[in-house]
Amino acid sequence: MKRSLTPNTPPSPSAVSPDILVARDVWVGVQVDKIVKPIVQGGDLRVPSGQILGLVGESGSGKTQFVRALMGLSNLEPGVISGSAVYSLGGDFAPVDVLSEVEDYCPYRPPQNDELYPVRQRIGWAWPLWRRAHARRLQALREMGVGFIFQNPMGALNPYMRVGSQLMEAVRVARPDASPGEAEEGAIHWLAQVHLKASRETLGLYPHELSGGMAQRVMIALALAGEPRFVVADEPTTGLDSHIRREVVGLLHRIMAQGDLSGIVISHDLPMVARLCDRLTVMFRGRVVEEGPIEALGDPDSPSHPYTRELKERAEALARGRGASRSRAPGQSPDSTGVMVGQGCVYRSRCTLFRERRVEPSLCEGETPSRLEIASGHRVACHARELLAQTPGGGPAVGGHGDHGGAHV
Ligand code: SF4
Repeated sequence: MKRSLTPNTPPSPSAVSPDILVARDVWVGVQVDKIVKPIVQGGDLRVPSGQILGLVGESGSGKTQFVRALMGLSNLEPGVISGSAVYSLGGDFAPVDVLSEVEDYCPYRPPQNDELYPVRQRIGWAWPLWRRAHARRLQALREMGVGFIFQNPMGALNPYMRVGSQLMEAVRVARPDASPGEAEEGAIHWLAQVHLKASRETLGLYPHELSGGMAQRVMIALALAGEPRFVVADEPTTGLDSHIRREVVGLLHRIMAQGDLSGIVISHDLPMVARLCDRLTVMFRGRVVEEGPIEALGDPDSPSHPYTRELKERAEALARGRGASRSRAPGQSPDSTGVMVGQGCVYRSRCTLFRERRVEPSLCEGETPSRLEIASGHRVACHARELLAQTPGGGPAVGGHGDHGGAHV
């Protein structure tokens, strides 16, 4: 059956994009005391149709809030959200910018010129209006075929509904005309797809009767039962033991490799991302510092941003069973995560090239590096791109085909 949707952009044949999602200059900020701290600063990302993008970075890098904003799931208020996030899911649907008009409602705007923090532009009463408008767009996104695999399945599953009822509801998103028998058949099919016992007995369970691994698989089945064209998985293996994690990664790999599914996997597990994804976007302290094809980022001879190199070295060290220490500037606080506002490179306090003065320090301190291409489709935000090419980094940890016991970066 043809699903209906009122797009916020008029259909246009020229608007058909080879990219299923293009996000540009996205800002997200949260109010802390009397200021709004920007936790995503001018984030860009692009998901080509039929590809899976891995979004990596350590805790506090802003990756989850970035994607939550793109999905209309941001729970930050009052604050700042701005930019654009255009979904081109094809079929009957015109491209939709889920962030269009957000600035008209937002109490703060992003900083400009020499401003350090977002600036208040109106009182906050307009914010709930935007959330209401946004809820409609989120519903539209679901109807268009966008699915979510959340970080905490127990928090995302409805504790009062049996697994079967939740799965049958998801099946009806894709097949609104399905009879109760057909919806149940579809629910059992998806149980089998995620390697759960495909029976009415499993359908009759409540979420509290599931183990952690089972709940995660039900969550995956729920996301896929709606037959999405685009799926977002936020730390899909967090909290699972290594055996279950391997199983879930294998399951995701099998599902994501078939069909023309596109999506984003958010994780700090670099080997898992390398196995599941076609492209990689790396964030540090709210900024995207590198993006490129997964092969380039796994190739030890390919130049990488110094932060990506650090991630790869730490993943390798952990995979070898050794703890990895961060390179730290003398006198730097051990708690080095969090936002960094103003001009300059966000990574400079941990950058060896900067510390050893192999690049002009005033450049790294005074100018935020733009992301520029160092190879086809591979961009790095670093003032020392020539040096990166001379000091290749990386290694087998992101080769993409090994056993993934959860070497977290
Ligand atoms: S811009 Fe400067 S500080 Fe930043 S990663 Fe490059 S060399 Fe290091």
